[in-house]
Amino acid sequence: MEKAKYIWLDGDFIPWDEAKVHILTHTLHYGLGVFEGIRAYHCHDGRTAIFRLKEHIQRLYDSAYVMQVAIPFPKAQVEEACVEILRKNEQKEAYLRPLVFIGDGAMGLNPGDNPIRVSIISWLWGAYLGDEGLIKGIRLKTSAFTRHHVRIMMTKTKTVGNYVNSILAKREALQAGYDEALLLDTEGYVSEASGENIFMVKDGLLRTPPLTSILPGITRDSLLTLARDMGIPVRERKFSLDDLYLADEAFLSGTAAEVTPVREVDGRIIGSGTRGPLTEKLQSTYFDVVKGRNTTYQRWLTFV
Ligand code: PMP
Repeated sequence: MEKAKYIWLDGDFIPWDEAKVHILTHTLHYGLGVFEGIRAYHCHDGRTAIFRLKEHIQRLYDSAYVMQVAIPFPKAQVEEACVEILRKNEQKEAYLRPLVFIGDGAMGLNPGDNPIRVSIISWLWGAYLGDEGLIKGIRLKTSAFTRHHVRIMMTKTKTVGNYVNSILAKREALQAGYDEALLLDTEGYVSEASGENIFMVKDGLLRTPPLTSILPGITRDSLLTLARDMGIPVRERKFSLDDLYLADEAFLSGTAAEVTPVREVDGRIIGSGTRGPLTEKLQSTYFDVVKGRNTTYQRWLTFV
């Protein structure tokens, strides 16, 4: 990772190399923290725009609320810091990572009154599943690990500890020679990938699992809005692996992965084995929106 100049930590911009924490940092031991992943794009007119900043910061505060972690800064200040860090780091394009964590103090599972700390890191992050993946599609493997049950983890939150499940699945997929892992829910229905939501297309219908036990992806929401506005029929309902194997097209959505086509699942070629036509249409519309070329959705952009 290429270092930037500054990291925002607890209200101040400090030099990248000085953004350190004590080894007793509670989150480091027990995994209770919440975070976000946000992208800022270099727009066609030379400006930089953060995509759906308000919604990401709202989700950060929602995750923290559910987890009973009281963020000691007003939402507006964290939003402003996301804008400011791009200016300070002179970045035209970046991935932003706000992280809320429990600092050092008491050990043991009850963090007591340990300080709640907040950092924002910005760095350059290319296509998460590769440039080639965006065009040709990626290979997905169903994981032996199940997605969290709603009584085990708060699946609608972006909680640090939730991601151990994702790491296990991702590693398993990579070790088997695949690009990304698909997780099933506790009933065996398709839920989401290790860090992305999933969509499939069958007979012109765009399908995605409902928000029952998955992260409410902001990219997912954006694509559903775009699809509905384009007159594409959409259905948010559970589907199974055989539905997915028989799909005409499939793709993943996420801030990091953007809109990444899926060309194979568990050795079954999906559709024509390349990026499908509807996937391509939604992907190009998405990029037009995030890069400010499509002004219909400018309400989603925060210009830096
Ligand atoms: N599911 C999981 C588990 C994720 O980590 C992510 C990435 N934040 C997503 C879905 C997609 O969410 P978003 O589109 O908001 O980035």
